[in-house]
Amino acid sequence: MRKGIKERCRRVVVKLGTSTLVYPNGQLNLCRIEHLVRQLADLHNRGIEVLLVSSGAIGVGANRMGFKKVPATMPEKQALAAIGQGALLHLYEKIFAEYGKIVAQVLLTRGDLDDRIRYLNATNTLLAILAMGVIPIINENDTVVVEEIKFGDNDTLSALVAGIVNADLLLILSDVDGLYDSDPRLNSSARLLTHVGEITDEMEENSRNRGSSFSSGGMLTKLKAARMCMAAGVPMVIANSEVENVIIRVLSGEEMGTLFIPREDRKMHARKKWIAFGTVVQGRISVDSGAVTALLKRGKSLLPSGVLRVEGEFERGTVVAVVSPEGKEIARGMVNYSAEELKLIAGKKTSEIEEILGEKDYDEVIHRNNLWVDN
Ligand code: GLU
Repeated sequence: MRKGIKERCRRVVVKLGTSTLVYPNGQLNLCRIEHLVRQLADLHNRGIEVLLVSSGAIGVGANRMGFKKVPATMPEKQALAAIGQGALLHLYEKIFAEYGKIVAQVLLTRGDLDDRIRYLNATNTLLAILAMGVIPIINENDTVVVEEIKFGDNDTLSALVAGIVNADLLLILSDVDGLYDSDPRLNSSARLLTHVGEITDEMEENSRNRGSSFSSGGMLTKLKAARMCMAAGVPMVIANSEVENVIIRVLSGEEMGTLFIPREDRKMHARKKWIAFGTVVQGRISVDSGAVTALLKRGKSLLPSGVLRVEGEFERGTVVAVVSPEGKEIARGMVNYSAEELKLIAGKKTSEIEEILGEKDYDEVIHRNNLWVDN
């Protein structure tokens, strides 16, 4: 039994992947969809707020058009998403309505979350939908976004959503039982990990496989989602959608699938959450080892003296990655100076900023309050 899950879960995000919704031949798995929706409606009846992140737009679109696999070009995929998303929502609307539930379609793009104001708008809308007792069904707005500006996969999107609404649990349902210590398709003695408190490089290495032919995920994107959840203080479970009453059972605290346990002290401030996960970084600042220690160990702000190199074009107020001398991303933060200004003051003392730039609005390149540190 997993203690606390049942008692604590008042708001849950459930993510359904394409492989859960469609058969390998591309046809809809109606029995399974009905079974899962019924459980979600039942949770809702118990007074639990439910948000559904559903993939499947492209897969369902491909199916409607009689395609055996997803076409390669972006416009074709986008067209299929437009065709499939409507069909998918129609199906959800119909099944949820049988149980008296009202649903709301929410299509998000990265741009909606990159901008702090739009992020807050999206958050408020989701909370308003929940307050109305309605179940939001969320997907990426695939029809209008191209590769470079995509979340890319709904595992990431569902973790972001879970963070945004301060969910008590993210449940990712998939066609696997959870995370194994090695690839179960290659190794028959692979062991299911029931509890994970830390994601290691080895786990990521073992997970570099692709998902089904219609989906974008795989275990790697789920681990990325788990990292985000653990940092944001949201427990996450990966479980198999095929298991009878899986959603109800996980929510009842039954030990099923893999539970990723957040560190309790990691409940993140909303703005830091946005800095860490809501945005696409616009540039990179490499810092020296002294700055790495100051940021990771001593809770300090980033000063110009620690900056070695600046990459990318960015304005004041954008979010950038902070990178160690070895090239590892250690933090993200909102910069007080533009890339152009930073190149001039890199390596310099705070007292020299004014002389170089003609003005000094800030001592710090990134203030601690605007910095999210990955440790
Ligand atoms: N947004 C895509 C779709 O609905 C799926 C992304 C994913 O597979 O994670 O088809």
